[in-house]
Amino acid sequence: MAKDTVIRCSLCGKDKKDSRILIAGINGHVCDSCITQAYAIVKEETGGDVKQQVQHSLNLLKPNVIKERLDEYVIGQDEAKKVLSVAVYNHFKRISYKPAQKEDIEIDKSNLILVGETGTGKTLMARTIANLINVPFCIADATVLTEAGYVGEDVESILTRLLQAADYDVAAAEKGIVFIDEIDKIARKSDNPSITRDVSGEGVQQAMLKLLEGTVVNVPPQGGRKHPDAKMIQVNTKNILFICGGAFDGIEKKIAKRLNTQAVGYAASVTSAEVDKANLLQYVTPQDLKAFGLIPELIGRLPVLTFLRPLDRDALRRILTEPKNALIRQYKQLFKMEGTKIDFEEEVLDLIVDKALEFKLGARGLRGICEAIMTDLMYELPGAEKPIKQFTVNLDYANEKLRHARMSQLKVA
Ligand code: ADP
Repeated sequence: MAKDTVIRCSLCGKDKKDSRILIAGINGHVCDSCITQAYAIVKEETGGDVKQQVQHSLNLLKPNVIKERLDEYVIGQDEAKKVLSVAVYNHFKRISYKPAQKEDIEIDKSNLILVGETGTGKTLMARTIANLINVPFCIADATVLTEAGYVGEDVESILTRLLQAADYDVAAAEKGIVFIDEIDKIARKSDNPSITRDVSGEGVQQAMLKLLEGTVVNVPPQGGRKHPDAKMIQVNTKNILFICGGAFDGIEKKIAKRLNTQAVGYAASVTSAEVDKANLLQYVTPQDLKAFGLIPELIGRLPVLTFLRPLDRDALRRILTEPKNALIRQYKQLFKMEGTKIDFEEEVLDLIVDKALEFKLGARGLRGICEAIMTDLMYELPGAEKPIKQFTVNLDYANEKLRHARMSQLKVA
């Protein structure tokens, strides 16, 4: 008997040409209508929460494990990693903790604030942690936020992004992590509360207070005010973890001033001889944030404060090669996919770091410099007449490419 060569759904037997989609498995196929039916059954059995179970099952790791996993992606910044790991762990423990008795203590929310130069890993750390514990994550830029009623984005727009990241799964979004970047840019201009309204600074800080603490917000699903008719989605921010980051340019002066006055005072916690003047950020306190222009109410809602160190030559060099998705590893993988083994001379890596330091581009600049060196190769190799099995990027080659690179190209983040 001739073998049936028609491809059919292994569940209902429907012919391939009668189904819109037929998905192949190891030993058979399944059609779209069987998938739809199966989904409906699973949904019914799980009380409608299939998507959440599949996509957003919280992976609560212990603080030391979070730190170890962060080490795979983020170089240095040990203090910040520790503080962040503990805060995130406590936050999610708090969410899953149900007080058994009335008198059981409620645990406060532990939103964080990270202070550190731009490009030192603040966003990277927040994003990596959200990935590790498998919760929706979004980044918001504080500089585009304004008070309601003014031109710009309302603070609620932050939650639109989180909802989008959670595929509009409200329950998942309500346990998400929001990274608010450039929080220092909404500092008020002077330490004195203003009598006039300050649309871009203090007003936004005020608008953020409720959001950080926990409130039910009506969120426009598409964001912005362009869709006034869109049905609002209610999101409770009580269990959303907010991590704010900022460079706080010039805060060192405020820290130095405080340390100086403290060092002569009798309650000095750090004596002036002990102060590491090259890295004053490590002494940052809520008091310094206030002196910089954050309002005390906002600082109060960001109870965990930590700092990131500037990246030195050694850190930049390690960033190039050590993280799991380090740039050099990425290039090697890209070329491997073309059948070429690519190597980099040690001197080339030093040169890339030198250039990043010379142009004051930090870790963000490493990518642009690498691209300037590698673009020609990536252009030529795939179309080469004879496959090239191996290529070593040496110092002459790298210098030559950099000589022809435009500065603007190097600055690409
Ligand atoms: P910011 O502190 O301004 O939020 P980012 O986290 O966005 O800085 O860092 C920019 C890029 O620089 C990251 O995507 C990453 O590639 C690299 N980078 C910065 N700091 C580190 C670090 N400590 N370890 C590894 N990569 C880093």
